[in-house]
Amino acid sequence: MQCLEDTIAGLIRKCIGCGLCTEHCPSYRHGGLDPHRMMTQRKGDILDCIICGTCSRVCDSTDPLTVMKSLMYLRRKDEFPDHFERTGYIHPMEDCPSRHELVPSWDSEGIHIMPGCVIRAKAPFLEYASAVALRSIGIGCLELEGNGCCIRPAQFMAMSAEDKLSYKRDMIANASGNRVLALCHGCSEEMNSSSLDVENVIHLLHENLDRLPRLDKKLSVAIEPGCQAEHLLSEMREVVEAIGCTVVNDRIGCCGKDTRVSSSLMKERMEECSGCDVIVVGCPKCFTKYDAYPEGMPVMFLTELVAMAVGDVSSLKYHRIPFSGSNRIAPP
Ligand code: SF4
Ligand code: SF4
Repeated sequence: MQCLEDTIAGLIRKCIGCGLCTEHCPSYRHGGLDPHRMMTQRKGDILDCIICGTCSRVCDSTDPLTVMKSLMYLRRKDEFPDHFERTGYIHPMEDCPSRHELVPSWDSEGIHIMPGCVIRAKAPFLEYASAVALRSIGIGCLELEGNGCCIRPAQFMAMSAEDKLSYKRDMIANASGNRVLALCHGCSEEMNSSSLDVENVIHLLHENLDRLPRLDKKLSVAIEPGCQAEHLLSEMREVVEAIGCTVVNDRIGCCGKDTRVSSSLMKERMEECSGCDVIVVGCPKCFTKYDAYPEGMPVMFLTELVAMAVGDVSSLKYHRIPFSGSNRIAPP
């Protein structure tokens, strides 16, 4: 692992000690790790890192996220899932009836969808809703052949840069030069980091504001783009407003994924979302967290809101927390 240690050391050398990463780190704010201290002293518990990437977005000098992912890999390198070899996804496939009951009907050509690990393994009905949403704005779509994990998770830190680039290029080559759309911002960001042009679904919907369908009646929503797409907040707000929603929250934040600080972060999210008919999220991982939150509020992935506006609520029946807002259209 000398190579990984060298990478870490090189990135730490570029740190100017400004403390911005710590100031903005959601884990630190909720009693988790201090990224600057972790980098320079290796003090704290690396498993408290959410891998949200906020530290690297605010840092102009180095790449703390890569340091965190590398340290996480060094801590738990024996946890690489063997099912990745069989499925191409980092998460094990959960038993979700929608996998067989709600299969998207693809077009023969159009934008190629990269669903990502979370949707593929835990919430396949979100891919169906996304296909409905894209068609509602006149965009044909099909699933990217050979799609799989974007290899952003820490488990892949031991792969060489050349192997990572080759893996990603091979996957995107299956689109034969057509546009590729990621339903998870982590996937698009990972592909973009290798100069591969993969669009994000929030961004694509925003580009098509004037084509979006409208709900019959207004809906009060709280929006949570997710930590990796916080910079798309204003685009997401304009999308939901164009569909006919009123946004009730003025603060957003991170769900904490599966870390120790998640319960504290989720409590904060619930407080800022109070008073809405439904929480609309821009991240598949957030969707699974919010939908599993005990006594939580109804939640929708952004494309489900678009699908609902054209009368397709098929995906909602697979949610754990039922949505019973005034705009709900009864399934056929
Ligand atoms: S990692 Fe970046 S943001 Fe954090 S202290 Fe160092 S220079 Fe500042
Ligand atoms: S990735 Fe997120 S949780 Fe981890 S150190 Fe950076 S800002 Fe903090």
